[in-house]
Amino acid sequence: MATITKSIKGGEFLIRETDAQEIFIPEEFTEEQKMMAQACQDFIDTEITPNIEEIDSMKNPDLVPSIFKKAGELGLLGISVPEEYGGMGMSFNTSMLIADIIGAAGSFSTTYGAHTGIGTLPILYYGSEEQKKKYLPKLATGEWAACYCLTEPDAGSDANSGKTKAELTEDGKHYLINGQKMWISNAGFADLFIVFAKIEDDKNLTAFIVEKTFGGITMNEEEKKMGIKGSSTRQVFFNDCKVPVENMLSDRQNGFKIAVNILNIGRIKLGSGILGGVRTVTSNAVKYSTERKQFGVSINTFGAIKAKLAEMAIRTYVSESLCYRAGQDIEEQINSFVADGMEENEAKLKGVEAFAMECAIAKIHGSEVLDYVVDQGVQVYGGMGYSAEAPMERAYRDARIARIYEGTNEINRMLMIGMLLKRAMKGEVNLFEPAMAVSAELTSVPSFESIDTSVLFAAEKDVLKKLKKVFLMVGGKAAMALQDKIEDEQEIMMNLADVMIEIYAAESAILRTEKLVSLKGEAAAANQIAMSQVYLAEAVDKINAAGKEAIASFTKGDEQKVMLMGLKRFTKADPVNTKQLRRQIADYMIEQGKYPF
Ligand SMILES: Cc1cc2nc3c(=O)[nH]c(=O)nc-3n(C[C@H](O)[C@H](O)[C@H](O)COP(=O)(O)OP(=O)(O)OC[C@H]3O[C@@H](n4cnc5c(N)ncnc54)[C@H](O)[C@@H]3O)c2cc1C
Repeated sequence: MATITKSIKGGEFLIRETDAQEIFIPEEFTEEQKMMAQACQDFIDTEITPNIEEIDSMKNPDLVPSIFKKAGELGLLGISVPEEYGGMGMSFNTSMLIADIIGAAGSFSTTYGAHTGIGTLPILYYGSEEQKKKYLPKLATGEWAACYCLTEPDAGSDANSGKTKAELTEDGKHYLINGQKMWISNAGFADLFIVFAKIEDDKNLTAFIVEKTFGGITMNEEEKKMGIKGSSTRQVFFNDCKVPVENMLSDRQNGFKIAVNILNIGRIKLGSGILGGVRTVTSNAVKYSTERKQFGVSINTFGAIKAKLAEMAIRTYVSESLCYRAGQDIEEQINSFVADGMEENEAKLKGVEAFAMECAIAKIHGSEVLDYVVDQGVQVYGGMGYSAEAPMERAYRDARIARIYEGTNEINRMLMIGMLLKRAMKGEVNLFEPAMAVSAELTSVPSFESIDTSVLFAAEKDVLKKLKKVFLMVGGKAAMALQDKIEDEQEIMMNLADVMIEIYAAESAILRTEKLVSLKGEAAAANQIAMSQVYLAEAVDKINAAGKEAIASFTKGDEQKVMLMGLKRFTKADPVNTKQLRRQIADYMIEQGKYPF
């Protein structure tokens, strides 16, 4: 992989122009990474696809555990675990790539994500040396399965309010855990439980590593779910579950921090973890639209269908672009912390934390693209889209969970903006100076820089520059006008989050395509250019709508007029013939018979 030296901070994309050569694009994966991805794809083709009905029926309780063990034998469960603990010690972006491929495995992708992410990583990042030596080899090889017990019936988004208790025994050797956890993925066959509980009247949770054999663990039957029916999800009860004191993970009251930091990783992995699924759904839609004939022709000849196929591909391409851009930024931040002498695990956590906003963007964008793609997939299939005999019905049901777990998309939107403002207050991201400059620009005579439209993406980059001004204008004014009360104005925070997401998404696609052009030439990237242009055109409209809604909700009179004029100026873009570009993209997809990018 190309080594890139740069030092962009999380959230800085809003105030900085990024050079295309600075970002990582999926087309740059090495042969070794591609081989790993292929091994993973082969695993899906042989172990998952032929058994998908049986997995989802849950009639054979041994099936998923046996497939899980095979994934372990292939090394797929230890991608992020260092070799000294029995894993493969691969890079952050490689683990993203494997999550991406596994994303096509339906229910199993949740089983996989819960084990390798929230089940294993708390020990990897926060465990003592003894805990890591004892547990990680078992988890990395699939000898043991893990689950993560945070959510409770009355503590979901407000996870730190959990009531599960951990009480020290009189001899000081054990904690007795009592309480109820809900929606626990993999619970049905897990050997190890990461459990969050409160000690005495502590404000924050404490985490524990709990082995099933400690006793005192019972569970309800499998939940009857809308989708991902083949993944185990149960309520878990702890009744005087006796946990040795040495199984406390990290320090007392550090549990909530562990939960938050592990969820940051979970979020970006979920962002890549939807990609395999959306590519498969898009490819299936292309194939079906070619086979299905109405009015004497394939339905793929209709403009309405072509527009859908193209839009499915465009959003997939954009989500890929932003995910791997953020993944590599995280990887480089980790390397830079390590080079500065930071211990490796701490560097990993701090590296991800630095890009927590981008992690949230990856989760939100990915899960919403997934829902969009499966919805359009059902539509392309028509009545067959509604039939359990065809693959779209399952994809549609399975997709819906992604907007709910790993922090709902509402919580993630508010986290992003809250975090950005906090960092700006601390001076970690210099938002206020650029925001003041934009504010001054609002009342000055507009300057018209001439753009050399013969340069690829010169016009689009100018549009992006202005879109960033929308964020700075609305965000800056809202922060000044509302101060701390902005947290009570969730609608405005959601608007700001939407603006931020669309800027990052559109910019990531343009930069990826620009880099691709530098590697392969403009002709070879004609469809990627078209996809980036269509997405940007859509982003401009979405940003305009979100900006208008926010401005109208906290300004009045002249100030409102000035800001609305600014919004108009900053969202001005030449019209794009999206019809033509979508047709071009769809024609190529139809020719290739799949999602070909
Ligand atoms: C299939 C499945 C698997 C899961 N796996 C696991 C697992 O392995 N381990 C685990 O610990 N948990 C797991 N979960 C739980 C999951 O993380 C929670 O469901 C999720 O965090 C939301 O919590 P909740 O269901 O209590 O919803 P609530 O928190 O009750 O939210 C309901 C609605 O209110 C909104 N809302 C909540 N608070 C706010 C706020 N402050 N401001 C604005 N809106 C708000 C939410 O966005 C949502 O739209 C799983 C859930 C499911 C369905």
